[in-house]
Amino acid sequence: MPRSVVPALDDILDIPQPVLDQGFVTVIDYMGDDAAVPAAARLSYQKGTRKVSTDKGLIDYLMRHRHTSPFEMCEIKLHIRLPIFVARQWIRHRMANVNEMSGRYSELPREFYIPEPEHIAEQSASNKQGRGQPLSAGDQERFRARMTDAGHAAFDLYDEMLEANVARELSRVVLPLSTYTEMFWKIDLHNLLHFLALRMDSHAQYEIRAYADVIGDIVSRWVPDVWDAFARYRRNAVLLSAPAMDAVRAVLAKGAEDAPAALEAELEARGLSKREIREVMEKLV
Ligand SMILES: Cc1cc2nc3c(=O)[nH]c(=O)nc-3n(C[C@H](O)[C@H](O)[C@H](O)COP(=O)(O)OP(=O)(O)OC[C@H]3O[C@@H](n4cnc5c(N)ncnc54)[C@H](O)[C@@H]3O)c2cc1C
Repeated sequence: MPRSVVPALDDILDIPQPVLDQGFVTVIDYMGDDAAVPAAARLSYQKGTRKVSTDKGLIDYLMRHRHTSPFEMCEIKLHIRLPIFVARQWIRHRMANVNEMSGRYSELPREFYIPEPEHIAEQSASNKQGRGQPLSAGDQERFRARMTDAGHAAFDLYDEMLEANVARELSRVVLPLSTYTEMFWKIDLHNLLHFLALRMDSHAQYEIRAYADVIGDIVSRWVPDVWDAFARYRRNAVLLSAPAMDAVRAVLAKGAEDAPAALEAELEARGLSKREIREVMEKLV
């Protein structure tokens, strides 16, 4: 998108951006912008930056060469409402600051995630961590209804325990992983891009990907030049193993007519697993 038409981050400051059925991401505060990244790099390179004259060119160079510390000069603080099972994946990203609502201190509101019908799908046959074909419309609706009933039954017991003055910290353990929680999350731009590279990827679970996509939109408003460099040199770039590169070179050297089949054979000859071959083929063909 041309820089002049990129929507401004300030337009959505303090405005919740909806995610899933009851979640959101709200930008609370941020520090730095596209200019802060080359400014930091110029301090470290001094006269060495003369070769890269524009800020955009320098951002591209830094991204391409994994010179990451200038990106750490920008920070953002988000308020996020998300189901507990998404928060469990999220919290694995340690290079961030978190403050989460306390189910020991407060009563948790009756808010739990019910997937849209099209996201209720079979276990994937090829990916042990993923979803495959969608269920029939009838089964999707049946399980949505059952999930809703189960969520309400859990909250009914929670309320009953609270009414009997059972401690909040214990009553909450009957609630499902789909229960919504909230947190403040503060992270620098380098680690945020690392999070987005992992969680916008098709291998990430749909629900955390939905949040990552919304945060991606936020980053594109915040630092459009960095976002553009991230798309070109990280997110849509591929990392090939040494044997995979050897195979590509061998096929190109042969000038084979049936390049895809020849490439697959070369990869197999170099001992790559079926899965790795599939991944390489998906990237190259
Ligand atoms: C698709 C997918 C599937 C996953 N499946 C599983 C799973 O089945 N089981 C599971 O347990 N996890 C799983 N994870 C979580 C994954 O293993 C990482 O914990 C998570 O992605 C966070 O990545 P990170 O450690 O790079 O990020 P951060 O914690 O933010 O760390 C950023 C970087 O800082 C450095 N760093 C931070 N802390 C340390 C430390 N203590 N020691 C050394 N270096 C450090 C590392 O270089 C790290 O890459 C999965 C993640 C994804 C994206």
